[in-house]
Amino acid sequence: MIPDFDFEVDKIIEAIKKGNHTTITLQFPEGLKRRAAKVVSEITGKADIKIIISGEPCYGACDLPASTDGLLVNFGHYPIPNLVQEGDILFIPARSKIDPLPVLKKALPELEGIIGVISTPQHIHMLGQAIEFLQEQGIRAVIGKGSERLHTDGQVLGCNTSAARNITEKIDMLLFIGTGNFHPLALALGTKKPIIIADPVLKEIRKIDELKEKVLRQRHAVITQAKEAKTFGILLSTKQGQRREELAHQIADKLKEAGKSSVIIEMETATPQKLDAFKVDAWVSTACPRLAIDDYMAYTSPIITPPELDIILGHREWEDYIFDEIE
Ligand code: SF4
Repeated sequence: MIPDFDFEVDKIIEAIKKGNHTTITLQFPEGLKRRAAKVVSEITGKADIKIIISGEPCYGACDLPASTDGLLVNFGHYPIPNLVQEGDILFIPARSKIDPLPVLKKALPELEGIIGVISTPQHIHMLGQAIEFLQEQGIRAVIGKGSERLHTDGQVLGCNTSAARNITEKIDMLLFIGTGNFHPLALALGTKKPIIIADPVLKEIRKIDELKEKVLRQRHAVITQAKEAKTFGILLSTKQGQRREELAHQIADKLKEAGKSSVIIEMETATPQKLDAFKVDAWVSTACPRLAIDDYMAYTSPIITPPELDIILGHREWEDYIFDEIE
């Protein structure tokens, strides 16, 4: 048995049999790649099947290989409902088996008013238990329903905080159950509500305020730098779930109106080496919003999001800063 996460090997075996597959491809997010060999050995212990593991980075269900033979098994994500994805694909959220109660108990002193509870696929099955526990403690807790990019109520993606945004009027703060800081950061920037992170893996409670302020200072500096640019590269992803072609053309039109030149450049995965080859003064990324926020230090030219370009062009005030989201 592989500890900590449920890789649902029996469900995979069932899908192999149902589709009469002889080959499967496994796709793991970065944090689960180290479990890949163990998952392969569990599957091959139960089925006579050829297995290939994708070595490419995978940050979401938006990020599937263009084509694979047989069954594709994507771990760590739910499907994106408003995205038509071809082929035989099985999404396994890799649910954490950790008991969330110890960390929820630690969170209690931090919670005030009505709480919106939110999570990612690895921990979202804990939301029901969390709500029940909070209600037993006399705390009112609710779960929001998001846009069609989200598979499950109470889910957050790094590019979509709609399940939280849709309940901001009703709640005083958000409780994020999960790991890492990027999703809470997206929630903080997307909802402007206080966030408490209850991390069941590290068994700790964190706040995001300092990181949010630091990121806003960084974004302000990047925007200021990009204001000087005369030529922009508009980054367009070839990944189906990140491709915003209409937006890329709208951005090109806006830049033209503002007297700036631009080129739309498509690529599957952006790397500093690929971007630097084009020698533009700044980039606007229409691909995954994480690129500009998480990785901007790796790039020579400033890289901004579409709402940040609106600030540069005077269509939006800095005080109305919003996070880039994909609906
Ligand atoms: S676009 Fe980025 S944040 Fe959104 S699902 Fe894909 S990888 Fe995650």
